[in-house]
Amino acid sequence: VKENGRNDCMLYTGELDNSSLEKLTMQHEMRQALNRNEFVLYYQPQYHIATGKVVGLEALVRWRHPERGMIPPTQFIPIAEESGLIVQLGEWVLAEACRQNKAWQDAGLPAVPVSVNLSMRQFLQQNLPDKVASILHQSGLRSEYLDLEITESMTMDVQHATTCLVELTKLGVCISIDDFGTGYSSFHYLKNFPINRLKIDRSFVRDIQQDPNDAAIVAAIIAMAHNLNLQVIAEGVETEGQVEFLRKHACDEMQGYLWSPPVPGGQVADILRPLAYP
Ligand code: C2E
Ligand code: CA
Ligand code: CA
Ligand code: CA
Repeated sequence: VKENGRNDCMLYTGELDNSSLEKLTMQHEMRQALNRNEFVLYYQPQYHIATGKVVGLEALVRWRHPERGMIPPTQFIPIAEESGLIVQLGEWVLAEACRQNKAWQDAGLPAVPVSVNLSMRQFLQQNLPDKVASILHQSGLRSEYLDLEITESMTMDVQHATTCLVELTKLGVCISIDDFGTGYSSFHYLKNFPINRLKIDRSFVRDIQQDPNDAAIVAAIIAMAHNLNLQVIAEGVETEGQVEFLRKHACDEMQGYLWSPPVPGGQVADILRPLAYP
């Protein structure tokens, strides 16, 4: 007698185990979700540490599933990456973030850049700079108000990365290296890639106050960024103590739950209007 429903399921699905069946279902649902407009963008403000002003908004995608509620990106981005659907989804995110940012500017809100996360797959596309250019054109957003966040792992193919980043920089968009320190850092890349900003990964920021190694790493990243004429932002800032540390080490910007989690687009006006944290 079988007591385990899982085992029964395995019999019927043959080669497919539960997780790959789940993935296929998810991929199918995501395709539908794109057509049905079930994806939404949340925005998390980025603050200038010295003045407290809002200097940017990071667009973070969520899936508003009709039955399962709001699904976080950590649950569907990896599957979208694997299936290639991330290219379509990523283009939607890019277009939506640009459209929305232009609408805020047209409504008279202070203009700040919107940061959009790029996936590896998008970055590898030959025509990415053309796509970005056409999305900017369609939205009417000026290129200086778009920041693209790429991760270090995306820069493995130096030749492609250089060409792509040079093209994007020519358009006038900003480039940030996301999750800095967690990937394949190379000083050679930092020196030669046209980038504007480093985002210190949350995992280094978290224990700044307790762990002297993390403190040393964060201090060193800030100093190095400044020597390379790059801006530097700390992500995942949750405590006043972390802010004190960052201020002492002259980190330029920060982002984190201490001031605001990612919020729906409808709440962004309230964040931008005072242009400063409370
Ligand atoms: P990420 O780019 O490193 O984004 C920052 C994540 O940290 C966000 O999670 C944000 O909500 C969370 N966070 C912000 N402040 C704090 C804090 O103070 N404490 C803690 N514990 N967490 C904080 P989220 O929105 O769930 O996004 C997770 C990841 O999903 C992102 O990491 C990014 O890699 C990916 N992602 C999100 N949206 C997109 C997108 O449109 N395209 C692509 N390719 N990836 C996306
Ligand atoms: Ca990011
Ligand atoms: Ca990040
Ligand atoms: Ca991260």
